[in-house]
Amino acid sequence: PDPRDAGGASDALRVLRRVFGYDSFRGEQQEIIDHVVAGGDALVLMPTGGGKSLCYQIPALVRKGVGVVVSPLIALMQDQVDALRALGVRAGFLNSTQDLDERRLVEAEFLAGELDLLYLAPERLRVESTLALLGRGSISLFAIDEAHCVAQWGHDFRPDYLALSELHERWPDVPRIALTATATEATHAEIASRLKLQDARHFVASFDRPNIQYRIAPKNDPKRQLLELLRTEHPGDAGIVYCLSRASVEKTAEFLVKNGIDALPYHAGLDAGTRAEHQARFLREDGLVMVATIAFGMGIDKPDVRFVAHLDLPKSVEGYYQETGRAGRDGLPSTAWLAYGLQDVVQQRKMIDGSEGDAAHRRRLAAHLDAMLALCETVECRRVGLLAYFGQRSTPCGNCDTCLTPPEAWDGTVAAQKLLSTVVRLKRERNQKFGAGQVIDILLGKKTAKVIQFDHDALSVFGIGSELREAEWRGVVRQLLAQGLLAVEGDYGTLVLSEASAEVLGGRRQVMLRREPERAPRAAKAGSS
Ligand code: ADP
Ligand code: ZN
Repeated sequence: PDPRDAGGASDALRVLRRVFGYDSFRGEQQEIIDHVVAGGDALVLMPTGGGKSLCYQIPALVRKGVGVVVSPLIALMQDQVDALRALGVRAGFLNSTQDLDERRLVEAEFLAGELDLLYLAPERLRVESTLALLGRGSISLFAIDEAHCVAQWGHDFRPDYLALSELHERWPDVPRIALTATATEATHAEIASRLKLQDARHFVASFDRPNIQYRIAPKNDPKRQLLELLRTEHPGDAGIVYCLSRASVEKTAEFLVKNGIDALPYHAGLDAGTRAEHQARFLREDGLVMVATIAFGMGIDKPDVRFVAHLDLPKSVEGYYQETGRAGRDGLPSTAWLAYGLQDVVQQRKMIDGSEGDAAHRRRLAAHLDAMLALCETVECRRVGLLAYFGQRSTPCGNCDTCLTPPEAWDGTVAAQKLLSTVVRLKRERNQKFGAGQVIDILLGKKTAKVIQFDHDALSVFGIGSELREAEWRGVVRQLLAQGLLAVEGDYGTLVLSEASAEVLGGRRQVMLRREPERAPRAAKAGSS
C-alpha cells in the first residue's frame, strides 16, 4: 500500500512488532514515524534511552528506498549494523575503518537496492564520490543522528556536520529527520537553522529522567567518598565513574580494585584493543564499574547502569545531563552523584583562560561553566534547575539531594567582604597574591609556618574570620568564584578581585550562600589525602 495513506501507521506498527518484537510505541514515536513516513521533515529532541533509533529505522523500512543515517559514532557502526542484521534488517555502513573491498561490497548492495539502512560517517559526505554514489541509488530518508554536533554553540561540535545542510539542496524531496538527546533552546534553534530544518516539525520530549536521583556533594576525599557510595548504596551494581584526566582514571580504577570493586579504566590513552575489550566487558558482564574520561559512553546502550559518578566537575550542563543520562535507561532507580569542590572551579577557570580560540570562544566556555556552577550551588531542586536549562518548566521533584535534605541559604555578605578585603590588603599593602589556603589561614588567625614567614599575622585582617570553620570558608571562596564575585589567575590559583567584587566590598550587593553541610564523620576520619 502507498505509505502516504492511512495504512502507513499500521505498516509501522506491523514493522515494530514483526521486526523489533515490541508491542507498542513509546511516547511520541508513533507520531514522529507517521510524519516521516508521510514525507515530512522532523527535528526530534528526546533524552537518551527515549527510543530515537526506531524513529528513523521504521520509516526506512516502510518507505521505498534506502534510509541513509549520518552518525559520528564510527566505533559503534559495526555493532549497530550487526544488531539490525540479527533482526533481519538489511543494514550496512561506510566509514574510514573499512578497506576498499568491504566498501565496494556495501556500495554494490546499496546500488542494487539490497539495503534498508546505510550508516555513514559525516566525513564521507564531504567526498564527492559518496554523493555521486547516493545520487545513483534510491533514498527513502536522511537521518542525522547526534544532530547537536552541528551546533557551534554546543559542546560537541563537528565541522563535518555543517556540510549536511547541502543534502536538502541536492535531494529536496527526501525527508530528513535530525535527532539529538541534548539541546538547550539555543542549540535547538542552531540545529534547525544550520540544517535548514526551520520548516520541519519539532518533536520535543520531556527531558526529565524521574528514576535518576541527582546528588551533588562537597568534595573532601573523592575516592573515599566514591567507595562509600558504592559500598553502601550500589554493591555489585554496574556503573560509570567519570574523571577529568587519564591519570586520575588510572588511579581511581586501581583504588577501587584494591578495595574489592570490579573496575576497569577507559580513556583515549589506552590502545584501541584494550578500549574495545573493556567496553565489551562492561556491556556483557554484570556489575562492572567503568572508570573513564568522557571519551567513554556516547551511544553506549546498557540498560542497567545503576549509577554515574563524577569525581570532577563537568564542563557544561549539557555534558552533565548526557553523562548522567547513561544511568537507568531501564527505568529503575539510579543515582547520579557528583563530587564538587573549590579546586574544580579553580582548575576549570584556568583551563578556560589557557584554552585556544578567540575571546568569543572563551566567553562561550565560561558561560557553559557558569551554568554548571549555578546548578552545583543552587538551594533549589536540582531537577528543576536542570530542566529549566533545557527550557522545560517543572516543580520540585522530591528525588534529588536538595529536595531530600533542603540546604539552608545564609547571608554571606559580611563573610564575603572579609574575604575580599583580605585579598585587597595582600595586594595593596604587600603587593602579594596568594591562593585560597593562605587567605583562609589568615582569616582564621592560624599561625602556620607560611603565615609567620610572610608576617601575615601582622595584617589587620588576621583572625577576623574565626566565626566560620575552614570548610565553610572554602565554601565561601568556591561560591564567590562560582558567582563571579572573585577570580583566580595563574598556575597556582591565586585569588584576585573580579569586576563585580567592588559591589560587594562597597556594600551595594548582598551575597546569598549555600550552607556547607557538616562533614560526614566517616569522611572526616578517612582524611588520608
Ligand atoms: P536513544 O537512541 O534515544 O538513546 P534507543 O533508540 O537506543 O534510544 O532506545 C533505547 C532502548 O529502548 C533500546 O533498547 C530500544 O530497543 C528500546 N525501545 C525503543 N522503543 C521501544 C518501544 N516502543 N518498546 C520497547 N522498547 C523500545
Ligand atoms: Zn528535586
